[in-house]
Amino acid sequence: MEKELKKCKNCNEAILKGRSDKIFCATACHNEYHNKNGLRKQLYEFYQENKEQLLNYIDARIEVFTSEKLKIMRKLDKMDSNSYLNVEYQHQLLKLHKDLSQLQKMKRSIPFE
Ligand SMILES: [Zn+2]
Repeated sequence: MEKELKKCKNCNEAILKGRSDKIFCATACHNEYHNKNGLRKQLYEFYQENKEQLLNYIDARIEVFTSEKLKIMRKLDKMDSNSYLNVEYQHQLLKLHKDLSQLQKMKRSIPFE
C-alpha cells in the first residue's frame, strides 16, 4: 500500500522529506503559519483595530475635563478667595489637572505608525 504524503499545514504542498510527524514542509512555512495565526499577531491586530477608538475616547475625555476646568476657573475668578466653596473648587481643579495630565500621558504612550 502506498504511503499517503502528508501536506504542509501552511502551503498545502506535499512534505517529501523529514520525520513522519512533520506538519510543515520548511521552517519558513512554520514561521509564516505562526505569524499568521499566533496570539501575538491576533492581539496586535485587535490593538490596531481598537487604537483609534481608544484615542477618540481619550480626546473626548480631555475635551470634557478641559471645559470643566475652564468653568471652575471662571467661577473662582468671581469668588471670594476665603469662602468654603472656593476651597472646594480649588480641590476640584487640582483633581481635573491630575486627570488631564494622566490622559495626556496615556495618549502619548500610544504609538503611531
Ligand atoms: Zn509549506
